[in-house]
Amino acid sequence: MWALLVLIGTAAVSAELQDLAFDGQKVFRVIPQNEEQVEIISALASSMQVDFWQPDSVTLVKPKMQVDFRVEADKSFEVENLLAQNKMEYRVLIDDLQTVVDAQFDSKVRASSHSYKKYNNWDTIVAWTADIAAQNPDLVSRSVIGETYEGRQIYLLKVGKSGTNKAAIFMDCGFHAREWISPAFCQWFVKEAVETYGEDSVMTNLLNKLDFYILPVLNIDGYVYTWTSNRLWRKTRSKNAGSSCIGTDPNRNFDAGWCTIGASSRPCDSTYCGSAPESEKETKALADFIREHLSTIKAYLTIHSYSQLLLFPYSYTYTYPSNYEELVKKINSSRMQATHVSSAI
Ligand SMILES: [Zn+2]
Repeated sequence: MWALLVLIGTAAVSAELQDLAFDGQKVFRVIPQNEEQVEIISALASSMQVDFWQPDSVTLVKPKMQVDFRVEADKSFEVENLLAQNKMEYRVLIDDLQTVVDAQFDSKVRASSHSYKKYNNWDTIVAWTADIAAQNPDLVSRSVIGETYEGRQIYLLKVGKSGTNKAAIFMDCGFHAREWISPAFCQWFVKEAVETYGEDSVMTNLLNKLDFYILPVLNIDGYVYTWTSNRLWRKTRSKNAGSSCIGTDPNRNFDAGWCTIGASSRPCDSTYCGSAPESEKETKALADFIREHLSTIKAYLTIHSYSQLLLFPYSYTYTYPSNYEELVKKINSSRMQATHVSSAI
């Protein structure tokens, strides 16, 4: 099985500053030029709470990489001083984050009834999964693969023309709660599939030969929380024993290089790996489903947002996988389609 981590652009983010208001908080962009400057960013992250938007964690910062991070209002002066003292060029991407978050309450952003061009809340997405399956019974069926920590049902759509011995592609969205464009992408994909089947030869061929398992939102509790309480929440909403900090990064909770490079063992961190592999009900439900369908699932894609990147295994090592050449070929051929779809949203 080969796998891709697809990241599509526009608004979305990362980590756990404790407050729920973002007044005066700033987002900086820095490109460290050498290891020394990487060290300065590391020192900054250890001396204050820094929410890394790109990359996900300070441990992943490398020279020449574009690094975006959010800091508290009362720390921004200190950050600017430190960067200036070390002659590091920086940009303030967002000067007052609360203004940007407030703008997301606009009806142009949040849909009042289901929309493919606005963000839909969880209840609206649930109703949509039922509707799209009911309206396209020969192409779409809905199932439940498990429950979240807070008891919400995790819905999965199977999209494809019925047939025997079909191979399948699994794609999930909404791993990280605040990456709202990701669930929007999964909904858009299903819409495109059902609307163009029978008209577009590529889509028709794909759905005749393959099944697509589409999981519109995995981290549902977190997604709901971003709508009701904290727009920048990323993790699950499970309690952590011995800590007042909530949640695990579901994407770092798999039983694969668990809690190594790029993951944190501290429950308060946005990249917390959890108490054990698959400790999160959401991650376990997903992994169980894939294990049960290993003979048919040939590819796994997970849709995230922030920056324009296609990532492929493995995140926990810099060593290439054994089928690296094949992955590069497949990614190069899928890149054009990915770009095309994301620009349409
Ligand atoms: Zn993500």
